[in-house]
Amino acid sequence: MNAPVLVINCGSSSIKYALIDSDPEAPRLAGLAERLGSPDARLKGKNSSGESFTQPLPDADHTQALNAILERMEGRVPGAVGHRIVHGGEHFTQAALIDDSVINAIETTAALAPLHNPANLAGVAATQSVFPTLPQVAVFDTAFHQTMPPRAYRYALPESLYAEHGIRRYGFHGTSHAFVSQRAGELSTRGAGGWLTAHLGNGCSTSAVFNNQSLDTSMGLTPLEGLVMGTRSGDVDPGLHAHLHRQLGWTLDKIDSVLNKESGLLGLSGLTNDMREIEEAAEQGHPTAQLAMEVFCYRIAKSLAALSCALPQLDGVIFTGGIGENSPIVRRNVLALLPHFGFALDDSANEATIRGKEGCLDSDGHQGPQVWVIPTDEEGRIAMETRHCLEARL
Ligand code: ADP
Repeated sequence: MNAPVLVINCGSSSIKYALIDSDPEAPRLAGLAERLGSPDARLKGKNSSGESFTQPLPDADHTQALNAILERMEGRVPGAVGHRIVHGGEHFTQAALIDDSVINAIETTAALAPLHNPANLAGVAATQSVFPTLPQVAVFDTAFHQTMPPRAYRYALPESLYAEHGIRRYGFHGTSHAFVSQRAGELSTRGAGGWLTAHLGNGCSTSAVFNNQSLDTSMGLTPLEGLVMGTRSGDVDPGLHAHLHRQLGWTLDKIDSVLNKESGLLGLSGLTNDMREIEEAAEQGHPTAQLAMEVFCYRIAKSLAALSCALPQLDGVIFTGGIGENSPIVRRNVLALLPHFGFALDDSANEATIRGKEGCLDSDGHQGPQVWVIPTDEEGRIAMETRHCLEARL
């Protein structure tokens, strides 16, 4: 299929979009409709010459926003729509052409992602009404991790919780871990091999990928498990919930909200969830920012070390996401905690590889596991999986 793919990531009050050509060099049209359903609703984006625009869409709903997006396509006609769907449960191991049975299966997994899947499905319905003849493909955040073996995905809980209620580890950020590990395999002499990937954005997760298959990852049943994130705690003692309830009288909703929205870098620093501001405050000697940076990096290193157990061989580590792509300090701190892995970081390559650059950060002639920065491209991966899904059906 040569026509462009329209990639849609639909939240409860937002639609992120990108129109992606089959030629990777062709300019992308991309943007965000946000605050939908409110008087401040608006569409922000860039046209093909790279100029930014903001268009007010007062009180627009998802369908009206999609119609406004359609008008920004500059005459380019999409051949298909690829939807990011957060949770595919165990049902979806790859992208799927959307029909009634796929919609039913996504609805069935909504209990596992009550905030995300219903919003993603609302986006599918709105897109179908605006583009009734286009094929629509669902691409799942969880699907890449469906190759994890039971020892990685099972919790040590009663079997019935898994068998009857699907309580297991699923993992997220699958399109990102898949994209960067495949790209490292193309760029590096090591090939597909064994890679540890660290996606560090507002949400953060690590993954162990061997031969393009995920063998383990740090997120679990929900995206709260694992690393310290912008506002999410990551791993805590599972006894914490009962303790907070019994000792402080907190409700489950309050605990959920604190762990998801008030913890992580924000909770530790008491200042911000933004890594740039944490770096600045730490540099100026602010003790809680220094602590937030230390805990953040230590937990990444600990997770990478743990995930190395999943790999038959270690060819390298890959940093990606807003922090992984732009923070030489975080990369240096994390690698300094893993001296026994034999990485050899070139400091000047580390400092220079920011703002969308990809590259290997190794010192010259180094033979051990490599260090890579690969800017992620989740939209590009969704477009590619959409094309593959449709081509496989021809
Ligand atoms: P999302 O997960 O929402 O896609 P991003 O991948 O854009 O988020 O990552 C956002 C994070 O990246 C923020 O913590 C931000 O501070 C951080 N970040 C962006 N640029 C830099 C930079 N130059 N140095 C350090 N951190 C950065």
